[in-house]
Formats: sequence, C-alpha cells, structure tokens
Amino acid sequence: MKSTAVPGVDFARVGGWIERYFERPDAYRVAPAVEPGDVVRALPASAPENAETFDEIMSDFERIIVAGSTLWNHPRFFAYFATSAAPAAVAAEALAATLDVKAMLWRTSPAATELEEVVMRWLGGLLGLPRDWTGIIYDTASIAGFTALAAARESMGFEIREAGMAGRDLPALRVYVTDETHSHVEKAAIALGIGQRNVVRIPCDGAFRMNARGLRDAVERDGGAGLRPMAIVATVGTTSTTSIDPLREIAEIARAYDIWLHVDAAYAGVAAILPECRHMFDGIEAADSLVVNPHKWMFVPMDCSALFVKDASLLRRTFGLVPEYLTTPQDDAVNYMDYGLQLGRRFRSLKLWFVLRHLGAEGIRAQLRRHIALAREFASWVQATPDWEVLAPHPFSVVCFRYAPSGLDDAELERLNSGIMDAVNATGEVFISHTKVAGKYAIRLAIGNIRTERSDVEAAWHLLRRAAVEARPS
Ligand SMILES: *Cc1c(COP(=O)(O)O)cnc(C)c1O
Repeated sequence: MKSTAVPGVDFARVGGWIERYFERPDAYRVAPAVEPGDVVRALPASAPENAETFDEIMSDFERIIVAGSTLWNHPRFFAYFATSAAPAAVAAEALAATLDVKAMLWRTSPAATELEEVVMRWLGGLLGLPRDWTGIIYDTASIAGFTALAAARESMGFEIREAGMAGRDLPALRVYVTDETHSHVEKAAIALGIGQRNVVRIPCDGAFRMNARGLRDAVERDGGAGLRPMAIVATVGTTSTTSIDPLREIAEIARAYDIWLHVDAAYAGVAAILPECRHMFDGIEAADSLVVNPHKWMFVPMDCSALFVKDASLLRRTFGLVPEYLTTPQDDAVNYMDYGLQLGRRFRSLKLWFVLRHLGAEGIRAQLRRHIALAREFASWVQATPDWEVLAPHPFSVVCFRYAPSGLDDAELERLNSGIMDAVNATGEVFISHTKVAGKYAIRLAIGNIRTERSDVEAAWHLLRRAAVEARPS
C-alpha cells in the first residue's frame, strides 16, 4: 500500500534500482559513451510547468543520467582514486536526506553533532591518533586543508582576522610543499592571501618523498631573508604515486622552527588502521592537523573528509562568529558552524557510523589488505611481462606503469601509452587514468572499490595488453 504522505513516490522502485545496480555492475559501462553536450540535448530547455510522474522521472534517470554518468561506484573503476559507497552507507544517505538536518548548532542537530563527536573519536582511535586531538567532518580534503591553513595563519598572531592583510607591514608568509603535493594547497594559498609565489616547492628524493634536508635549508633561507614560514604540508600517500613524505623528520623541523604542520593523508590515511601500515604516521603526534577522507578509501560515499586537529580552539578563534539569530542557550555545547566557513552542514557522520558498524574495523582492514595485495599482484604481472615497466614504488593500492618497447623516446612512449589508455577506456569495460612520474607518462591503476575482485583487475590487464599489441608501432 502506498502512503498518502508521499503521493506517487515509488520508493520500492528506487530501492530496486539500487539493488540491481549493486548486483549487476557488468550491465553498465564504467565510462559512458557520451560526447560533451549529449546530456543537455537529451533534456528539455526549460523546467516543466506541470508535475510529471515519478515513473517518468525514474525512466529518464536510468535512460539519460545513468547512461551519461562515469560510474565511480563500479568495481571496474580504476581511475584517479578508486572509491566506493558501501550499500549500508547508501542507505544511510537516504535516511540523512529524510531527516534533512542542518548540523550547525548543537540545538539544530543534537544527534548529528554528538554522533560526529563519537565517530570522529572512533576513527581517531582506529588510526592511532593522539587521544586528545579533535576530529571534525568537512566535505572534502581541499576544504579541510584550507581550514587548517586558515588556522595556521591565525595562530601566527598577526591579527589578520581583524585587520586583514592589505595596507600593513606584514612579512610574506611561506607554505612548504613538494611537486607531489595536491594542488588544493596552492588554491588555499590563493584564497588566504598567501600568494602562489609563497608556496615553496621542496625537492623530492628518488622515491618522490620530500627531502627533509631541503626543507630545513629553505626554512633557514626564508627566515634569514625576513620571510615568515607559516606551514608545512606533508603528504602521506601523494596523489600521483602515493609516496609517503618522511613525517618524523619533517615534524622535527616544524617543531624546531615553530611552523604549523598539516598532514595530507586524504587517500592513504585510512591504511593507518592496519598495524603493518601504522609506521607511515610515525611522528604524527608532533603535527598540528591531519586530513583523511573516508569518502576515498573507506567505503563512505562522497562527501566525507575527516580533519583532526591538535588544538580545536584555534579553529574556533579563526572562524567563530555568531549572529544574533544563531545565539543559543546551550553555552557549552559544540556548535560546528564555529569550526569552518560552512554554516548549514550535512549529517555526514551518519553514513560513517553505518559503515564503521556494518563492516567493523576488521571488515575494513580485510578490504584494504585485499586491495593492497591486488595492487602488488598487478604490479608483479606488469614487471614479469617483457616491454612493460612499473614506474614508481606502490606502497598502497595504486600502480604507475607503462608499456615501453625499446627504441622509442619518452615523447613517443607518451603517445603510445595515452593511445593504449584511450583504447582501453573506449571499451567501457574499465576506466583508467594517467599521471606523469618524473616526467614520464604513466598509466595509473588505482584499486579501492569494495566490490573489485581479482577478475576485474585481470580484465584490466588483459585489455591493456591487447591494446598494446594493437597500438605497437611496426
Ligand atoms: C584526493 C586528494 C585530495 C583532494 O581530496 P578532495 O576531498 O577531493 O578535496 C587532497 N590530497 C590528496 C593527497 C588526495 O589524494
């Protein structure tokens, strides 16, 4: 029987579609067969004047939207970072949308606020973070990183919050990264008035890790020139190769010179729940902030990014601002609007709670280990095959490699490999992306979907080799 409270909305049809999607991913192309503009052309130019039936809307969802989507939540999605939404988290999202809570004040969202406290404490515990750190959920690592850097700027004592930066006698503020650091740090520097020129790129070693000696030299040089080091961003699991910056050495420099240390572990951070990977956070207690994305490799759907900070009062000092209409009688309650730019916030902790409970820490560990083992196995196939080469160490579940028959220079190999990747992606059977590793074009296979099996990785390898045979220059 259909409820009269929701006339015409067929929740069973939605649930059925979701179930079929999870059961039969092979019924769908991973990357859609569409050209730019196809989706626009398939839709009317203006909004409907009259109500349409739910059936019509669902049919168009399947026919136009799904067919025009790159399916990130597909076991053969191997591009960028392979992510996935566990079915339990999909259910949680529907429930969160039903409550439609705005988690800005405790009073507007008691359960959302307190569940966020609880699951962040759970997550921090699983990752082995210092017990007295505070975890807060943001939409993305980019915004979490921006928020941490804003607090870093505020903590320097220049009263930029009140006085701004223009028309004052302020030294240039410097942020230290490497060529492998994610681009959002530079965007944060733009937005915070730091300036792109003050984002200093420290050289890396042969394994794409920040050279601590180079960092110390740069900090010394800047100090001597009257510039003010503001923050160091160390990455655990860089975006191209997933290399790991030497945290302990970097943290020692950060403490010696009193510089904010932000650790970007957006993708790889969740691996700290594996005892065998915990060493990657060695030295973390000396950092000031750390970001980990459950929406990347912990089966929580976009968006859910966890920022942990040593001193949450600095975030409040940076962003706290309460207009009259948002004052509340609960003086000592946590009001998350005080910890960032965003006012109304989604109930993101709900899906994280569902995933942590439905998989359990052991279930999550088993998945991560499976992905890491699959990546190792894939790399071993590449290495064992004549004319193929692995281009970087692969500490987690991402492998950078290329087809490199002899007699071709790097430019020719780039054309050859991008052709191979395009041919593989055009099949719709898998989706793979690329990067550059020390200037060399690399195909990049990322494993991380909760439903990816060995047979899916084998399929990708088979398609790559077949495309290589077809593309080989004669
Ligand atoms: C993916 C990634 C980001 C960006 O994450 P968003 O949540 O999409 O902003 C930042 N840093 C690293 C190391 C990443 O891998």
